[in-house]
Amino acid sequence: MRLILLGPPGAGKGTQAKRLVDRHGIVQLSTGDMLRAAVAAETPVGLKAKDIMGRGDLVPDEIVIEIISQRIDEPDCARGFILDGFPRTVAQADALDHLLKEKGLALDVVVEIKVDEAILLSRIAQRASETPGAVREDDTAETLKRRLAVYREQTAPLIDYYGRRGLLRTVDGMQSIDEVTADIDEVLARMAA
Ligand code: ADP
Repeated sequence: MRLILLGPPGAGKGTQAKRLVDRHGIVQLSTGDMLRAAVAAETPVGLKAKDIMGRGDLVPDEIVIEIISQRIDEPDCARGFILDGFPRTVAQADALDHLLKEKGLALDVVVEIKVDEAILLSRIAQRASETPGAVREDDTAETLKRRLAVYREQTAPLIDYYGRRGLLRTVDGMQSIDEVTADIDEVLARMAA
């Protein structure tokens, strides 16, 4: 199974991806996690990405496309994968399309986790005030607003992009974590049927 989780920052993509990993034995490919690891290890990619990520902007398409392309070739991806945080632009989606075709693979489904942005902002502010130490450097109110704006401008067009291809399914991300998981499971079960 190869699927994409789509949704704004704070929608719960990472949480849901981890649950899918446990249930379906497929891997989670999070470009955010991979980039943060590169930043921590001070690799050339990390050094380039650090300030861009700190501002809440997107790192250049060619960097993330290269990272994903290499990662998909690793043996643990053979059974399938969940893309979390990728693609984030139409150019990345086109590149993914191309990559998968080249490898003889196809996407099964794109699950959009739909949330109300105003509620999202307060949810994340709440999380920051409850666990100040655990907050990511780019989780401040300021960068979060920037990340949401970037999502609206550059990533939200992918909803139409995959809708036109008949791959999009939407779940209500304002429910509890368990309810969202149940809805995603239902989407996947219908797909298999
Ligand atoms: P969130 O979903 O909470 O916004 P991520 O962990 O997915 O956070 O991403 C954090 C940051 O990493 C983004 O704001 C961006 O700078 C960078 N990033 C992650 N994935 C991509 C991508 N596919 N394209 C460009 N930049 C990315």
